[in-house]
Amino acid sequence: MLLTFEQAKKDILEVATNNHKPAIEKVALFDALDRITAEPVISPINVPSFNNSAMDGYAVRLSDINQSTLLPLAGVIYAGDDISSLNWPKDSCLRIMTGAPVPNEASAVVMQEDAEQTESGIKFLKEIKPASNIRYIGEDAKQGAVIVEKGTRLTIPTLSSLATLGIAELTVYRRLKVAIFSTGNELTEIGTPLANNSAIYDSNRFTLKLLLNKLNCEIIDLGIIVDNPSKIKQTLKTASKQADLVISSGGVSVGDADYTKMALEELGKVNFWKIAIKPGKPFAFGNIGSALFCGLPGNPVSTLVTFYQLVQPLILALTGQNLTEAQLSLKVKTATNLKKSIGRLDFQRGLLQISTNGELEVVSTGQQGSHLTQSFNHANCFILLEKDRGNVTKGELVTVELFNTLLK
Ligand code: AMP
Ligand code: MG
Repeated sequence: MLLTFEQAKKDILEVATNNHKPAIEKVALFDALDRITAEPVISPINVPSFNNSAMDGYAVRLSDINQSTLLPLAGVIYAGDDISSLNWPKDSCLRIMTGAPVPNEASAVVMQEDAEQTESGIKFLKEIKPASNIRYIGEDAKQGAVIVEKGTRLTIPTLSSLATLGIAELTVYRRLKVAIFSTGNELTEIGTPLANNSAIYDSNRFTLKLLLNKLNCEIIDLGIIVDNPSKIKQTLKTASKQADLVISSGGVSVGDADYTKMALEELGKVNFWKIAIKPGKPFAFGNIGSALFCGLPGNPVSTLVTFYQLVQPLILALTGQNLTEAQLSLKVKTATNLKKSIGRLDFQRGLLQISTNGELEVVSTGQQGSHLTQSFNHANCFILLEKDRGNVTKGELVTVELFNTLLK
């Protein structure tokens, strides 16, 4: 009996959220990119912390303007000036620069393009709207307000806004330590000649490193492990002592050299699932000691799809991230026929595009075999074809899931 995708994902997330609480640490703001906030970030100050000018121009009192549209200049205020002892006589205006403090009595700043300098003073050319061109205290951030929720991945715009609050340090979750290795006698390290005429390159470990790097994990690379039960066992033992999560590729199906299962039965509690998905039917999940374990199928497309669909949400949960960011999915017409056999949920690779009539449509990226990595090239989405669905004809509606930043 095959496990449904939804059940597998639910089981994985349950383990992640119930049993694993990430540790926290403090980091400098500069080192916080892509880290996850472990507590809400509160603004320590008002930003702006004083009323200031949004333009180079003239600070005016509307009460003065009513009497005359021509006001003599009484002084200049520059950004950074202290105006606590400023003397601003009635019936005059002040020259003011962008970012300079605006006196409390000012009702507006008139931008210089709307004014004219004459010999007897400044002439105002347009009607002046109260409060115009004044940036008010606390307009961007109020002191004591929650600026960033707990469980948020910190991006450059967010960190940039925290810098405006003067925050120099943040409390974040510790990065997840992930140990990876590949299994298979046929595997050769990239960058070296293929070992013999039945050898292939270990592309999966390379892919896993890219993915984990993007998810900001600390990677413990244990290399290529040959199909030998005691070597695999030794590697799993080492990995589980060092890492929060261990990910292997290959050796989790039913071939004669699939020793990962044997080794894991002795070392930990791992479920060897057959999930009703394509690609990626065999998938192992469980724990070895305090480390969680994911065994991904060896075919490169299966590795990438199972990582994206099952390991990614696991890592997000283990690193304390809010899972509120909904996966962007939509229903569109397929512009190509799609081959599909009933019984498994397909994650076919597709390209969402605009048709010649200006409508959204999806096309298949070609052959979908789990060993055919070219199907991912040019793809920007998964075409999700439900378990009980058969072949799909051009023009039918299908569910499309846009790749998130992990694959872009
Ligand atoms: P396995 O899951 O070990 O039965 O492997 C399934 C298929 O994936 C076989 O064709 C393997 O040669 C291939 N494969 C296994 N590991 C890797 C890897 N690290 N990189 C690329 N292909 C792999
Ligand atoms: Mg193998």
